[in-house]
Amino acid sequence: MSQSYFGGRANRGPKKSNSNNNRFGGRGRSSQPRQKGARKQFIHPSKFINRTAVDQTPEVYEPTHLFTDFALDPTLQKNLAALKFTAPSAIQDQAIPLVLDGKDVIGLANTGTGKTAAFLLPILTKLARKPERSSVLIMAPTRELAQQIEAEAKRFSRDMRIFSTVLVGGTNIDRQMRDLKRGPHIIIGTPGRLNDLLQRGALRLDGVQYFVLDEADRMLDMGFINDIKKVARLLPSHRQTLCFSATITPAIQTLIQEFTHSPETVSVRTGETSDHVLQDIIEATDKQHKHDLLHDLLSKEEFDKVLVFGETKYGVQRLADSLTNQGIPSAAIHGNKSQSQRQRALRSFKENAVKVLVATDVAARGLDIPNVSHVINFDQPATYDDYIHRIGRTGRGGKHGKALTFVDKR
Ligand code: ADP
Ligand code: MG
Repeated sequence: MSQSYFGGRANRGPKKSNSNNNRFGGRGRSSQPRQKGARKQFIHPSKFINRTAVDQTPEVYEPTHLFTDFALDPTLQKNLAALKFTAPSAIQDQAIPLVLDGKDVIGLANTGTGKTAAFLLPILTKLARKPERSSVLIMAPTRELAQQIEAEAKRFSRDMRIFSTVLVGGTNIDRQMRDLKRGPHIIIGTPGRLNDLLQRGALRLDGVQYFVLDEADRMLDMGFINDIKKVARLLPSHRQTLCFSATITPAIQTLIQEFTHSPETVSVRTGETSDHVLQDIIEATDKQHKHDLLHDLLSKEEFDKVLVFGETKYGVQRLADSLTNQGIPSAAIHGNKSQSQRQRALRSFKENAVKVLVATDVAARGLDIPNVSHVINFDQPATYDDYIHRIGRTGRGGKHGKALTFVDKR
């Protein structure tokens, strides 16, 4: 894992204070959620260029705890050791004690810094003490994220006899209803499917003691606000609420106020991801020219794990097909694919069976894909915010990444 986030020595002394930590909002830009179908923003090409800032040394966080210092369940501790989780990341270091303490927590940290474990580890510890059915509800914006959360939960909870189920769209709902009848402890779902199951009377939320909103910013971006509210209204008011996000916007603050009770905020956001990413533009005359340029780039050896962003589902699929036909094995991920097709595409990219993954913004949200060497914006993002999210897929964990954006030749 990365040096900067997880590799730090535990510092038993007083915590080093960083003026940007623990302050609500940090120095992030605030951004407005984009409505579906909104017009494309004009973004000046100069905003896609950053040829100098790559050499900055990543900040090293010195945690004040080791995982063994936390009052986590003993089996969980054993599993963490086996997974080589020794030093907590900043968000884990600061949020885990608060969650164990029963506080409502708002956790703000950059993508890829271990937010999942920050809420799963204390929750699994509480579940081990009191393994009640349907007592944990975790909401995530996409199917892939929900599945990633479950995969992490499974790794952490080996031999703990804690069971979970994933409730997401694009998969058989009858099977999910059967899974629910078996009484899992942890329910992980996307807002749409959760509501669907609630309406069918297949899901009950009156036993929920822990409610997690993961990637809250992405959920709002994707227009899930009403679905989230509908679900939250059915939750018992005596519960612990945890909300994790990479950015904090006024809309998220409102949401937080509505759902939490005197929350503690842990903000360990550092500068925009773009600081660590070498960015440049490539001028192209038309679509065919973009195809040719892309093909040339992808033929170079240093482009060994490339995420290409396109605007539409069809465009993304066509691009992946045509690259594959030209001898560059590529997979596509977008909303027109079935759940299993999306998973297969993601896996083949993660496992290096293909070196190119072509994606739409929505399909790529929040996915944890390590070691992406390049992000290429084949189509320009609709907003600068989307741009930052796209290029945040590379240069993770303090590593340098590269991002290239095609712009119209003037
Ligand atoms: P985020 O939700 O903040 O984007 P994730 O929870 O997806 O980040 O974590 C990113 C990756 O880092 C995952 O593969 C996870 O297993 C790994 N990871 C998280 N915490 C640690 C840690 N303390 N030590 C080692 N690896 C970690
Ligand atoms: Mg996450």
